Amino acid sequence: MCQRSSCNSPFATSTPPTRTSSTASRASGRAARPDLPRYKSKKDTRQSIRLNTNAFCLQGDGTVYVAKVGNLKVTWSRWLPAAPTSLTVTKDSSGRYFLSFVVDTEPDILPELETDAGIDLGLSAFAVLSDGSKIDSPRFLRRAEKKLKRLQRELSRKAKGSKNRAKARVKVARQHTKVADRRRDWHHKASTQIIRDNQAVYVEDLAVSGLGRTRLAKSVHDAGWSAFVGMLEYKAVKHGRTFAKVDRALPSSQACSACGFRDGPKPLHVREWTCGACGTAHDRDHNAARNVLFEGRRIAAGRAETPNACGAPVRRAHVPAQRDEAGSPRKGQKTQAGIPEL
Ligand SMILES: [Zn+2]
Repeated sequence: MCQRSSCNSPFATSTPPTRTSSTASRASGRAARPDLPRYKSKKDTRQSIRLNTNAFCLQGDGTVYVAKVGNLKVTWSRWLPAAPTSLTVTKDSSGRYFLSFVVDTEPDILPELETDAGIDLGLSAFAVLSDGSKIDSPRFLRRAEKKLKRLQRELSRKAKGSKNRAKARVKVARQHTKVADRRRDWHHKASTQIIRDNQAVYVEDLAVSGLGRTRLAKSVHDAGWSAFVGMLEYKAVKHGRTFAKVDRALPSSQACSACGFRDGPKPLHVREWTCGACGTAHDRDHNAARNVLFEGRRIAAGRAETPNACGAPVRRAHVPAQRDEAGSPRKGQKTQAGIPEL
């Protein structure tokens, strides 16, 4: 029904993997108030329209007919696995158009594995897995900052309401979308890899909105943990894997993953420490990932809130997010080994 078209048009497509609602995807920091309608902003440069099957039609030559618009040339990103039930046309802030089709699909169950993984998300390394492997942080925004700074300075010097200002605005928006595209692509590759390699995946439930208000905000948002965890979650469902979030109150960086002894909070620059009870030398992030794995296994087995494998109780009282819990080490600070001061 749909043909792959090789024309170079500004249209690209993406198909959601399952029938999902995208209305909740608007990431505004404000809490939604149920009593008030949320209007689209006149200044919001991201526009979209959702069409039912009576308003669009896939043509045999690879174009898409949209009522009142006509035939659209499309660069297909993939084949549609079934006939679409609706179409959303989106224009993003850098002027690109996207067609998103809603398609019913079957889950793509992968063969079962024996492996499972706990993941500790951070800034010095993007993720540390409980088997000790590290995924480095790509810091896409930090890399693009120099160019962004120049473009934003050029924008601020243009007269308000002028055509040159509108052009400069699009340049800034393009640079931002480049960063966002790279980050999303990278998240997809990393999350797919983790889901393929592990039967069960456990992640700490992070308080990103709280951390985003600290001095680490830019780095926290550049990492994009929420988008990454969201991808892990839906890919786990799609491929028949187990996924669980571990309570953020779990003292993942305080307890010893070997004996369960709680060694107290440690300053962020302490990257390595030795357990005061059993003498095991720990890498901070690897130890945290192992704790997340053990707690995740308990949750998956329906035995959460019981003492851990070594008999130590796990405190689950509500603890607000600590600003120093997920940061990167600062320059000039030495890594402290041995038993930290309590
Ligand atoms: Zn220990």
